[in-house]
Amino acid sequence: MAKPPADLDAPLVLDRAWGEGVAGLRREESDDSVAWRSRVASGALVLVLLAVSVFAVWSSQATSIAASRAVAANDLAGYFAQAASAAAAEESLERKYRLEPGPQIRTRYNSAAADLVSALGRVRRQGDAGDRAFVDRVLAQHRDYLGATDQMFAAVDSGDTSAVLRIDGDQVDPLFNDIQKAVDGAADDKNQIAMDVLAYLQRLETLNRLLTPVVFLAGLVLAALLISISRGHRRLLDVERASAVHDSLHDALTGLPNRTLLSDRLGQALRADTRLGTSTGLLLLDLDRFKQINDTFGHHHGDELLTQVGPRLASVVRDVDTVARLAGDEFVVLLPDICSAAAATAVAVKLRAALETPFRVEGIDLDVEVSIGVVLSGEHGQDEAILLQRADIAMYMAKTQNLGISVYDPAVDRHSPNSLALFGDMRRALDRGELILHYQPKVSISTGDVVGAEALVRWQHPERGLVFPDEFIPLIEHTGLIGPLTRHVLDLALAQARTWSDAGRPLTVSVNLSARNLLDEGLPRQVAALLSARGVGPELLNLEVTESAIMTDPARAQQLLEQLSTLGIGISIDDFGAGYTSLGQLKNLPVSELKIDRSFVMTMTEDPSNALIVRSVVDLGRNLGFTLVAEGVETEQILKALAGIGCHVAQGYHLSRPLTAAAFDTWCAGRRITAMRIPARVSEVADRQASVDTLTLATT
Ligand code: C2E
Ligand code: MG
Ligand code: MG
Repeated sequence: MAKPPADLDAPLVLDRAWGEGVAGLRREESDDSVAWRSRVASGALVLVLLAVSVFAVWSSQATSIAASRAVAANDLAGYFAQAASAAAAEESLERKYRLEPGPQIRTRYNSAAADLVSALGRVRRQGDAGDRAFVDRVLAQHRDYLGATDQMFAAVDSGDTSAVLRIDGDQVDPLFNDIQKAVDGAADDKNQIAMDVLAYLQRLETLNRLLTPVVFLAGLVLAALLISISRGHRRLLDVERASAVHDSLHDALTGLPNRTLLSDRLGQALRADTRLGTSTGLLLLDLDRFKQINDTFGHHHGDELLTQVGPRLASVVRDVDTVARLAGDEFVVLLPDICSAAAATAVAVKLRAALETPFRVEGIDLDVEVSIGVVLSGEHGQDEAILLQRADIAMYMAKTQNLGISVYDPAVDRHSPNSLALFGDMRRALDRGELILHYQPKVSISTGDVVGAEALVRWQHPERGLVFPDEFIPLIEHTGLIGPLTRHVLDLALAQARTWSDAGRPLTVSVNLSARNLLDEGLPRQVAALLSARGVGPELLNLEVTESAIMTDPARAQQLLEQLSTLGIGISIDDFGAGYTSLGQLKNLPVSELKIDRSFVMTMTEDPSNALIVRSVVDLGRNLGFTLVAEGVETEQILKALAGIGCHVAQGYHLSRPLTAAAFDTWCAGRRITAMRIPARVSEVADRQASVDTLTLATT
């Protein structure tokens, strides 16, 4: 079994298993859950990063503020300590001077006093407002203290011991004690502050130490989560890309490979054939009566049936084979590396057998048969398009000749090369709008008025130019394409009828039906829908059916024509005359017009027996109340002869060849247009019945 491609741009080799795998992946991880997780993880990561940044800024700020506070408190504590020791030195020198007075002691005393003032001066410069006020107070006391000591030293110098004791006791000692207490206390306070700040710094550091691994871990977890989510996203994108590729290569209804994938695999198989000398089988399958199932039970049943057909076909082929759906009820089975057309036919037999058991669709058992065309590469062609076209031709043979399976036969193709090749193109012609209509006027013989136009289809083929209906209508009449073709022609003709009617030329358009259309029970409904879609009254539409078409299944044709006639549209019997003997069966049909076959009309002036036939048909038709139209009016002589026998309407090259709508308008200019159809009424049909009975008696 083929492996999923590593590179999605590589040649397309997608298989069912891979398709299922892709679907599984899609189920596992939905878009929503990945997007939700990604949003939460990104949000959390942003929050954590914000918190970490705020904390980092705050922590560094707090540390730096605390550190400078600690330094400042420490410095101030130092200065107070210096001041305290200077004060202590002052006191001791002051006492020493009392015992050994002399200039040396006095000088040292002065120096200690200056140290105290200088230490407090530093506090004043570096401290805050509180410190400055404090220092000013202490310095004031210190000045008093210096004044008191000066008096005391003078008493010492004069030997007045009692004055010395008095000054010391009253002033010097109390002042000194105050100063010493204040300075020591301040030094202690500042030390305490420094200690507090240090303790705070320690707490900060502990917090940092604890938080760092937590933040690191959270970051790691979130980063891992983001990586996994982005991987999920990438996987999801890959899955989506793969699923888009899968959708573009598979049929939406059945899930089978579509035309593109089939073409890719066929190309690969053909290249392998060239390399390895193998052959590839190609089977084209078309379900019989699928359209009938669709029309009878509705599209829903048809679709359901198609989805059941794929697995049945796949169940009898190898893993390397491809079952593809081309369009509608057409399937293709590609058989790479198969030895002969006989082996491919054997697979076709198995495929037909696989469809034998009825399909159960919503409680209804549906029987399906299939026609299969078989081709083999090498033997029937080496080119993809040719092989497909020839498989189509073989399938057509299988279908039209009720063979079930048919291997491509070059002899058949040689027999009618143009027709069969055209057949393959016809499907595309409908889609591309290559079918156009020409209009041939129908003219009243007595007045010369234009009474209608026959719409005649032409195929504007891109290579062959204008192709006439005789070349392709009989060929596709037996295929499902005739229905779409008739609908297409009806639509074009009604659009033109509407244009003429809007331009004040209400011309009745005649559209040809083929025998196959008369078996299509959906036709009356479709005609009614087209009339209303184009906004055209039923009196402006006439449908032409040949005698032979009616004779295919007279009972069904009768029923269908009656339904059509009830809509109010006219019915003509085309190419009338050759099947004269069937007149008895035509008598009950809701027909308003007989068109005499051109083979009689064209030669009526030279061949008396044909002249007799034309005259008889005109006589008979007039008696039965039909409008008589002669086709193939090629000369003035014929026109005069027809006038002589009372024929109503002429159509033929003598009046005009079939024309494009624009040329038809030019041709019509200056001519009168009148409606001339005589609608068939039940009473008329009854009258005709009586006349025909009389005539039959008269001729026997
Ligand atoms: P038809 O319905 O009998 O159409 C008349 C055919 O006779 C036309 O051929 C027309 O061009 C040709 N014709 C008209 N006047 C003369 C004439 O004076 N001399 C000769 N020799 N021929 C004349 P055309 O257009 O080739 O159509 C051939 C047949 O193809 C039609 O025969 C009709 O049966 C069929 N056909 C044409 N369009 C359609 C269509 O849309 N659907 C179906 N199912 N059949 C169509
Ligand atoms: Mg016709
Ligand atoms: Mg005809």
